[in-house]
Amino acid sequence: MAGMASPRPAAILHADLDAFYASVEQLLDPSLRGRPIAVGGSVVLAASYEARAYGVHGGMAGVRARRLCPQLQFVGGQFRQYQDLGHRVMGVLRDFTPLVERISIDEAFLDVAGSIHLFGSPGEIAGTIRRRVRDEIGLPLSVGVATTKHLAKVASQVAKPDGVVIVEADSERAFLEPLPVGLLWGVGPVTRERLAGRGINTVGDLMAISPSLLEALLGRAVGRKLVALAANADPRQVESRRSARSVGAQGALGRRAVSAELLWSSLGYLADRVATRLRAAGRAGRTITVRVRFPPMRSITRSATLTTATSATLTITEVAVALAQAALADHPDEKEITLVAVSVSNLAPEAALQLALPLEVGDDGGGLGVPSPERWALDRAVDRVRERFGRQAVGFAGVSLSDVARVPEAFRELAEG
Ligand SMILES: [Mg+2]
Repeated sequence: MAGMASPRPAAILHADLDAFYASVEQLLDPSLRGRPIAVGGSVVLAASYEARAYGVHGGMAGVRARRLCPQLQFVGGQFRQYQDLGHRVMGVLRDFTPLVERISIDEAFLDVAGSIHLFGSPGEIAGTIRRRVRDEIGLPLSVGVATTKHLAKVASQVAKPDGVVIVEADSERAFLEPLPVGLLWGVGPVTRERLAGRGINTVGDLMAISPSLLEALLGRAVGRKLVALAANADPRQVESRRSARSVGAQGALGRRAVSAELLWSSLGYLADRVATRLRAAGRAGRTITVRVRFPPMRSITRSATLTTATSATLTITEVAVALAQAALADHPDEKEITLVAVSVSNLAPEAALQLALPLEVGDDGGGLGVPSPERWALDRAVDRVRERFGRQAVGFAGVSLSDVARVPEAFRELAEG
């Protein structure tokens, strides 16, 4: 396997609040501190570290959690406070760099390469941030510091609870080798089991086997991605909201049984909304992201980056469906979904070049079925008809009007996410 690819200094931080919901409850009610508590009821949404010591964790049925830890105390959840406190933490992070990319209510990436002359080394910045969040807001925050987003996130998970882990560029391999493969992004329970069946438990085990064997075991796309992550090859940059331009749409489904038809119709519908807006703005994007939410509120997100930017409805639909199917295959226990979302990012002006190149999915290198010039022409034709006769005049490429009609009645398109 190739050596570590580390052209950048270790200046990317992943800051992640510990047991966020539970920590907020303990902050607001001192009588809960030091005790095993869970936010939720029938399902555990978050568990304090005292509860985790008993094996209680988020997503677990309340009944099972109570069996594991009889003295577990359930609290209702003050969601407004979570929002406010999460917002305040982000404010602290932005004191150190404008390059803060919030990825959920309680975690964010920071690029502090440009802040070193003001605030000290990335490790010192991580320490100052942790101290300020603790002193000014009262919450424990763990931070990972590394050369890439992927590795910074791994490092923050290793740092928990309430710690900091710095992975310098020359120690990446030594850091990664002993870690369980489950810490790599995108390795779910199914992949982990399959690897364990071959005696692959650590990242080091993963590095030791040939990439072609791994691809045979997990499929080409997943295999290649894991090889890249194990070698810490992750070119993604930290993108603040201003630079992270994306176009997205999402729809609520109520509770629907998962089916191929449902995925095609709902994702096709959303992809069409997104692609139409891209084309109207003269933009195209390389990264396609799909989010699927299961009841009650667990969601998974998958992305693929194409070798060429696209604004083609059918291409975005195909990639979105493939991503959703891969995500669902990793969660075979989930039988229902409540929401799907599609977004396109990595945007650039729609280039004439797009006409000449066959579109490829970067992950598996395979060309998609329909050559892009035809897709482009088809989409343009659809756009022009709709300009004259309205949106409903014509179905979108690849999915016929009868498919659109099958979009479940309960499907509600939500505001851009
Ligand atoms: Mg967290």
